[in-house]
Amino acid sequence: MEKLNFDTVILGGGPAGLSAAIYAGRGAVSTAIVDTNMFGGQPSNYLELENYPGFQLIGGYDLMEKFEEHADKFGVNKFPMQEIKFVDLKNKKITTGEYEFQAKSIIIATGAQPMKLGVMGEKEFIGRGVSYCAVCDGAFYKNKVVAVVGGGNSAVEEAVYLTKFADKVYVIHRRNELRADKIVQERAFKNEKLEFVWDSVVKEIQGENLVNNVVIENVKTGEISNLSVNGVFPYIGMTPNVELFSGQLQQDARGFIITDETMQTSVEGVFAIGDVRKTPLRQVVTAVSDGAVGAVYAVKYIETLNYNAIKR
Ligand code: NAP
Repeated sequence: MEKLNFDTVILGGGPAGLSAAIYAGRGAVSTAIVDTNMFGGQPSNYLELENYPGFQLIGGYDLMEKFEEHADKFGVNKFPMQEIKFVDLKNKKITTGEYEFQAKSIIIATGAQPMKLGVMGEKEFIGRGVSYCAVCDGAFYKNKVVAVVGGGNSAVEEAVYLTKFADKVYVIHRRNELRADKIVQERAFKNEKLEFVWDSVVKEIQGENLVNNVVIENVKTGEISNLSVNGVFPYIGMTPNVELFSGQLQQDARGFIITDETMQTSVEGVFAIGDVRKTPLRQVVTAVSDGAVGAVYAVKYIETLNYNAIKR
């Protein structure tokens, strides 16, 4: 196994990680960015973004490609497609299938993943009617009927997107009011292919080879009913990707990593940025901001370490 030394190793190559890479690279510390996948993170799967400043409308993949090119400009060392096996935060060691990284500072930018409904049939029908990515799978539902679960921006935006393909899209929400932004709601309410199923939760996803039914419960009346659908898209929020670090640092009840305003975690020299962090807003723009702050403070931390080492 090859051993590599870097001043800072960034775990995760989504918008937060790539932004940190730009700032750390520009801060003239040796920087590695490691991902289990290709770089770009979640936005690579977004069809379009219309709220990233400077771009009135840009494809998610295109924007992330620009981020990666920008990190390249500052000579960042990229390690995509790495199976990350162990992370020892205290000793700043990261082991992948191919390398052992020794760092002075670690920046965690591993993001978050879709929360599961946790109902019968969900796991069984993944790829056969259950999907967490409308952009990836929407086209399979041309002239079909699908259900989206949730009432936040993701659920409502993706439901509207799915109406491009599907004949009908149900939005099953556990309350009778959406959490999504007003502008997103207005677009949805105007869309004739959308039908809202209020005060309801999914109890089970059923089918034979493919999904053909969801069992729902009205939480106010307790009434159980069936919706004939070909696909189910749960969009009920995110859970942080923290399996590699859980227990090594301070987290909130849902597992999101707690930081101070400099993105410093409870472990000295370890910073957390973007969706993995406890934060009130999870957007590309906030991930980018976290990346800048975290990297600047990681650079300061490394400079202090180096200064103290010379003094000794
Ligand atoms: P979210 O805002 O946390 O919304 C999750 C939705 O799922 C809520 O409506 C919630 O219901 C519902 N829910 C949660 N747990 C559930 C369960 N077990 N069963 C049924 N329903 C459940 O998550 P998100 O929509 O994924 O968005 C995450 C973040 O990204 C937010 O900050 C959002 O604003 C942002 N985002 C922004 C944009 C944009 O600006 N264009 C697009 C996408 C996402 P309640 O409402 O009852 O809590």
